[in-house]
Amino acid sequence: MDSLWNNSELRQQMLNHFGDSTGECYQYYSFVEKKFCFSENIQKITAMIPRSGCSLDEWYRVIYPADCARLKRYVSGSFRRERQHYHFNYRMRNRFGQLIWLSSKGKCYFDECGRASFFLGTISAQDHLEQPVRDSCQTAWLKELEKAHHQGRNGHLLMVNVDNLSRINLKYGRECGNGVLEVLRDAMNEACTGEQRACRINGNCFCILLSETDEEQVKAYFRNVQRSLEGECTISGGCVPLQKYQIPESELLLQYAESSLEAAKKSGKNRLCFFMPEDYERKIAALELLEEMENAVRNDFSGFFLLYQAQIRSETFELAGAEALLRFRSSRRGVISPDECIPVLEQSGLIVPVGKWIIRKALEQCRFWRLTVPDFRVSINMSYRQLWQSEIQEDVLKLLRESGLPGSALAVEVTEGRELQNYPYLNAVFSAWKEEGIAIAVDDFGTGYSSLSWLKELSIDEIKIDRCFVSGIQHSAYNLRLLSNIIELAAGGGILVCCEGVENSEELAVLEPLHPALYQGYFFARPMSPEKFVLRRKYLEAVPCSDDREREKLSVSSKDRYALEHTILEKTEDVISLCDVLTHEIYYLNAAGKRIFGVRDYRGRKCYEALRGLDAPCSFCPNAGLRHDSFHIWEDWNSYCDRHFLLKDKLLDVDKKTLRLQVGMDITRREYLSRKSQARLDFARRITGYVDVLHRQRDWSRAVDLVLASLGEFYRADRAYLFEPSPAKPGFWDNTFEWCASGITPQKENLQQVPPQAVFRWMELFLHDKSVIIYNKEPLRSRSPLEWEMLECQEIHRLIAVPLMEEGRVAGFVGVDNPRNAIDDDTQIRVLASFLVVRFQRERRERLERGEL
Ligand code: C2E
Ligand code: CA
Ligand code: CA
Repeated sequence: MDSLWNNSELRQQMLNHFGDSTGECYQYYSFVEKKFCFSENIQKITAMIPRSGCSLDEWYRVIYPADCARLKRYVSGSFRRERQHYHFNYRMRNRFGQLIWLSSKGKCYFDECGRASFFLGTISAQDHLEQPVRDSCQTAWLKELEKAHHQGRNGHLLMVNVDNLSRINLKYGRECGNGVLEVLRDAMNEACTGEQRACRINGNCFCILLSETDEEQVKAYFRNVQRSLEGECTISGGCVPLQKYQIPESELLLQYAESSLEAAKKSGKNRLCFFMPEDYERKIAALELLEEMENAVRNDFSGFFLLYQAQIRSETFELAGAEALLRFRSSRRGVISPDECIPVLEQSGLIVPVGKWIIRKALEQCRFWRLTVPDFRVSINMSYRQLWQSEIQEDVLKLLRESGLPGSALAVEVTEGRELQNYPYLNAVFSAWKEEGIAIAVDDFGTGYSSLSWLKELSIDEIKIDRCFVSGIQHSAYNLRLLSNIIELAAGGGILVCCEGVENSEELAVLEPLHPALYQGYFFARPMSPEKFVLRRKYLEAVPCSDDREREKLSVSSKDRYALEHTILEKTEDVISLCDVLTHEIYYLNAAGKRIFGVRDYRGRKCYEALRGLDAPCSFCPNAGLRHDSFHIWEDWNSYCDRHFLLKDKLLDVDKKTLRLQVGMDITRREYLSRKSQARLDFARRITGYVDVLHRQRDWSRAVDLVLASLGEFYRADRAYLFEPSPAKPGFWDNTFEWCASGITPQKENLQQVPPQAVFRWMELFLHDKSVIIYNKEPLRSRSPLEWEMLECQEIHRLIAVPLMEEGRVAGFVGVDNPRNAIDDDTQIRVLASFLVVRFQRERRERLERGEL
């Protein structure tokens, strides 16, 4: 018998014959060749196994990970002479991502010496998992769907459900919830021009087959249903075309529609999403990754590992510590980046055990490195999912105690985001850590603009400026200005600043004058394994005597440093000049300056003559207002060389002379190539303007008038205004400040003691920290008549209003009427609102001190 099976061609033929004649699928495994073969009809069950067969490892790889370990144990224990027969069940995904159960039965054959030679048996597919129970209506409807699908009819399958149904059930009772579902069914049936009827399929979802429709028609249908439910509830929909993707089974159509519905819910509800195969693939990949990571966690975290990226002190270029960055090695896909695995870990809650493992590992590593660098500090990233765990405070302290290290060995990084606004909770968690000396850093600073007010509320030690501000900073006027403002603001509050993502010496040269505390980025080191980190001794040696070339780049003697700085000055693209403030004589001009202004020898020449083509000092010469201790930053269009510069000026004393150091960044290309960048510049200019005004202008009324004018101009609005609680009538609102565009009638006088009913809907949104954005007020006529009337009599067609939130309550709101720019973008107002809150608090404090409150 053995010899028959040894011939691979014959073997395949026999398997195919068996398969054909019995209808069952056959498998054969040779222990000698270490190879699986299957009868061809395996393809009917799953496409995961290649027709040509596969190795044992390949076979394990296509099996559902949760079953794999059990199967391996079974296989290794099964094939002994005393247990020739085997029978095991396991799961596998078919090509469409569905899990199917397979049942495998057979017998193992042995050679004369008692060694397992091969096994032969059958595989059969069992029913799909979790097959829902259907009633007769549903069964009939599903048959109809199957028919339409198999007959190749065109059209779409649409699945719809009510948003926030559980909230409706909770608030008004289940009866009411059921009523809403009935209304939805009726609306779906009414909106349908054909004979099709909606059928309740998965839980609270209704499905309808829209025959012979294109995408636009489906959208119009969905809009109609939405419209007829206005005031009742909002709905979301998921839709899949019947024929476009050659989907083999109609059950899968349902699965895809459901997955699209899920996407609609995730992207904010009250919308329709069409099926996207890539999204579905991604979902399946995430599911598989999750299964693998679950196994890894059970398996003592095997597969997870940490890389470390150096953090460098800006003053000395010495190593301060490292950030621990997670990686996962997948047996199928290799190393998975945190951008992919962290969201999966977070969603599943697996981040909690993995997070603890990270802290333990990172502290262990830190303890080792502290033998060489005694004050070495390791930073770990912490997700909000971890922070919301009630045990997190104690867990971290416990891990720290176990490591035997002081708190100063650890920094915890949390990302800037809305969640940061939960000040009372976070401050309570952080305070116990801070008592131990653990540092708290806010990561990706600057990416969550709208909530800057937390800076005053949260007790943190450090902010990490996001890479998007640092990257190419030498070309970006507004990034530089924003960054220097942020660093100034942070320094005022005793907060350290780390600039992330420094990639080259040009960026470094621009950052240095801003004096952040720390740098991190590829220019210094990429994230690396602890082994490599140790090998790069440049960081871990205290004395500057290494022959390691890389080390010299970072920790240089003063002579070398002078040479390095000179090289940077000459190599940089920026124009750097030194001029006598009294005589205007040029003292130094770097290579970029010589090139741009066509100057070969600057000695004896005046700046206004060589750099401006004038024969007298410029009328706008900034020299008189310059200082020694800070840069004056300004912008200028130089008509002499036809270029736009961002300029930074400051005074320097050299050889008993007072010189003006000027660094000029050529931003012509950046700033003028696209109108978009102009808009961005305007956007940022106004933001820095708000900070400036609210910081410097002592008079509150003047400050608010100025920022409202700037806001109104940005939105090209009719009015910009601030409302505050009416002191005379609690619960009512007063319009306290107003800016009007020219020709617009002021409304402030008419808007005193606005009753709460008129803004009831707004307050609901405000309390969830949402903005009111109206770009068509008509639906309000029936839904919120008082509000509609208020808008109508002021001739308001569009509006954006944003709350000023203070400790969870609405302390006021800012808004614009009839914006003509950025009509549905509240960002600019949100930024202003967050600054206003800070200023509000300052105002109150000062008034209190003056005894006025
Ligand atoms: P992050 O905390 O902002 O980490 C910095 C990321 O920027 C790292 O990416 C790092 O490799 C990258 N980076 C550093 N310098 C440069 C540079 O000069 N240029 C460029 N292009 N990139 C630079 P990575 O390791 O891929 O991590 C991505 C994100 O994943 C992290 O961003 C962090 O938010 C998250 N993450 C990583 N490890 C963990 C972890 O253990 N726990 C949690 N919760 N999140 C983690
Ligand atoms: Ca980080
Ligand atoms: Ca970051």
